[in-house]
Amino acid sequence: SIVVTAATGALGRLVVEELLERVPAGRVAVVVRDARKAADLAARGIEVRVADYDDPAALKDAFRPGDRVLLISGNEIGRRVAQHTAVIDAAKAAGVAQLAYTGVLGGPEADFQLAAEHTATERAVLASGLPYTFLRNGWYHENYTRELPAVLGHGAVVGSAGEGRIASAARADYAAAAAEVLTGEGHLNRVYELSGDTAWSLAEYAAEVSAQSGKEIAYTEVPAGEHLRILTGAGVPEDFAAIIVDVDAAIARGRLAGTGGDLARLIGRPTTPVAVAIGAALA
Ligand code: NDP
Repeated sequence: SIVVTAATGALGRLVVEELLERVPAGRVAVVVRDARKAADLAARGIEVRVADYDDPAALKDAFRPGDRVLLISGNEIGRRVAQHTAVIDAAKAAGVAQLAYTGVLGGPEADFQLAAEHTATERAVLASGLPYTFLRNGWYHENYTRELPAVLGHGAVVGSAGEGRIASAARADYAAAAAEVLTGEGHLNRVYELSGDTAWSLAEYAAEVSAQSGKEIAYTEVPAGEHLRILTGAGVPEDFAAIIVDVDAAIARGRLAGTGGDLARLIGRPTTPVAVAIGAALA
């Protein structure tokens, strides 16, 4: 089977939809921690296997020999190396034919806090000896467009990324790439640096939001310390706020700006422009 973990997450659901456009539901299986959330997938003929990344015993039954597996990174920051390693160990024990992993743009070159768990996971995948595919995902447009209500409310995009550029793409673009490497040939032991075709700065983003919303939206650059205070003041937990500020520093250093074109090549079309994502979010 073609197996997608975290299939009830935002990316996982999109990957499953992309797979169903390419193969019959009977060839697709999902690994989820909560079967109730996957009831709609089961109803469509997809095999649902239940296992939490924290549960090595349950993961033992999550994979079969010859499966082509997509390990979608979890969202429990700080716990993910152990969790992902448990999935990799289970995939190895089962003898899967492919282990694809959603890491971060730049791989080991990504020198910001959030990237460390992805780098450690890639190392564990390599150590397993399994045929792998590294999908090093750049940023989602949705990381920004989901904040649009607040941006419109304040009349400002606030950040500490300077003039750094962000080569984001739609989550759906990354999902299509994942489906492609799971169903196509020639992707074993390959590394893809996935990102949008065009990189933009936060000032350009603010200008585009202004143009489309008809409201005056400026980019307000603040020092890292003030950025942290603004985020925690808005209710973002301290440790996650620190991660956001650290990411902005990485953006300022150009770490999420790469436009190498792997994503467009894999999906056979240009990536979704950020202006389209802004329009969809405003609609
Ligand atoms: P979501 O937060 O929507 O999905 C996370 C998924 O991980 C969920 O399906 C969740 O399961 C699953 N998960 C978390 N912990 C466990 C666990 N212990 N056992 C089993 N499953 C678990 O994120 P997205 O789908 O948007 O993104 C996918 C991943 O990409 C994220 O988890 C994160 O690692 C990374 N990411 C990338 C971003 C980017 O811009 N490139 C931005 C944000 C995240 P459940 O459905 O049961 O909650």
